[in-house]
Amino acid sequence: MNLSKSKYCEGITCLKKLWLSTYKPEVKEDVKESVFETGTEVGELAKNIYGEYIDIEFNTDLKQMIEDTKKALDVKGDINITEASFNYDNNFCSVDILRRIGNSYEINEVKSSTHVNPIYLDDISYQYYILSHLGYKVDKCNIVTLNSGYIRHGELELDRLFTINDVTQEVLRKQKEIEQNIIDINSNMTKEEPRVSLDTYCKDPYDCPYFKYCTQNLEHPNIFDISGMNFSTKCTFYKKGLISYKELLHEKMNPKYKEQIEYELGLRKENIELDKIEEFLNTLEYPLYFLDFETYQEAIPSYDGISPYMQVPFQYSLHVKRNENAPLEHYEFLAEAGIDPRRSLAEQLVKDIPKDVCTIAYNMSFEKTVLKNLASLYPDLSKHLLNIREGMKDLMIPFKNRDYYNKEMKGSYSIKYVLPALFPDDPELDYHNLPLIHKGDEASNAYATLHLKSKKEQEEIRKGLLVYCELDTYAMVKIWEKLQECIRK
Ligand code: SF4
Repeated sequence: MNLSKSKYCEGITCLKKLWLSTYKPEVKEDVKESVFETGTEVGELAKNIYGEYIDIEFNTDLKQMIEDTKKALDVKGDINITEASFNYDNNFCSVDILRRIGNSYEINEVKSSTHVNPIYLDDISYQYYILSHLGYKVDKCNIVTLNSGYIRHGELELDRLFTINDVTQEVLRKQKEIEQNIIDINSNMTKEEPRVSLDTYCKDPYDCPYFKYCTQNLEHPNIFDISGMNFSTKCTFYKKGLISYKELLHEKMNPKYKEQIEYELGLRKENIELDKIEEFLNTLEYPLYFLDFETYQEAIPSYDGISPYMQVPFQYSLHVKRNENAPLEHYEFLAEAGIDPRRSLAEQLVKDIPKDVCTIAYNMSFEKTVLKNLASLYPDLSKHLLNIREGMKDLMIPFKNRDYYNKEMKGSYSIKYVLPALFPDDPELDYHNLPLIHKGDEASNAYATLHLKSKKEQEEIRKGLLVYCELDTYAMVKIWEKLQECIRK
């Protein structure tokens, strides 16, 4: 088989994964990459880190790329070539940035991550294998990652934005295993689907897009449906043949996992601990401000004060209940596309939420982090923003503590599970019924690319974002009302 960097890495992670992607790609789950995970923008920018370069243009005819690389290498003197392409014995690779300094070569593999994942070492080792077998003297191998500690101030500083990780020694140590890996991969790429057990490699280094296919014949629910359990622990049970909830029922495990199994097998009834719910509700005082932020992340920070992958707030929804008999009020903010959204958002927020009130979030650590970051960015608004943060309460608590729990929550206390468990047949509270945006990652992606859309598309997307975020806080109001109903009964 003709191997590439990605096929080699797939093959050494799981032979079945490579087999499926080669012979049965139609069973692959559609895993949507978020816009900042595509790595294209990072790769393009990183081409500049060593100065001028010759770029080998992508061509579906790989022979052409190899030919173009040969021509580029004919240039005398030190040189940087991006996407330099080579083939050795049906093993193909494009080197993100190849440097020739004197008679030696340096391989640079660019990743949009902020750390060196072990699979990157296999990727770059495979490149070293090809180049060294073609007779190139490779002295250095680097994995170029993003520096999460870099905060943009003014023009992007590429030498600080990127971290160059020298992995030459690791690459040299891996050379012994590559030949055998290639033989193993080739001998398994027959017409027959390899028989491979589920294991940690199904989630590490990446969520495998064939997981649904590989688990299709298992009884449901099963060990992989237990919420919050470490995946390697799940694999340990799986390999012992303890898979269905009935098989797992008498096994030793953390009581919260056991509880999930017992509830879902119908051995326990809904749990509602009225005293604890009342105790929680008594910590909330009118007026109540139900708040939810939407944020997006960028690999390459567009604005000052932002680090790679920092959560940047661009939208919020706010429902307000001033007293028991007051009507529910709604406020919202959605930044214009293509600008730094933070200042206008922070200014509007301090107008919408006064000081010394009870602000309610669901999983408040996220909202608190956003408020803290805004406060450190804008000293003039800092006191007010930190005051909102101080007065924050978390509606998730009764569900996290399982003071209110039923089997429909499936071991989770996320609002996306709690809401349908409390309101199973309410179309008004069903995220599936929303137009365009149904989840947080869809909202992030939609905003991050909003400025690239036509005016008409932007209008539609903005409507989608507004109704999505409004449902987040409306859902919180309904959950709070439900808790109140419980203690009144
Ligand atoms: S789900 Fe696991 S076993 Fe199946 S192809 Fe993916 S990595 Fe291999």
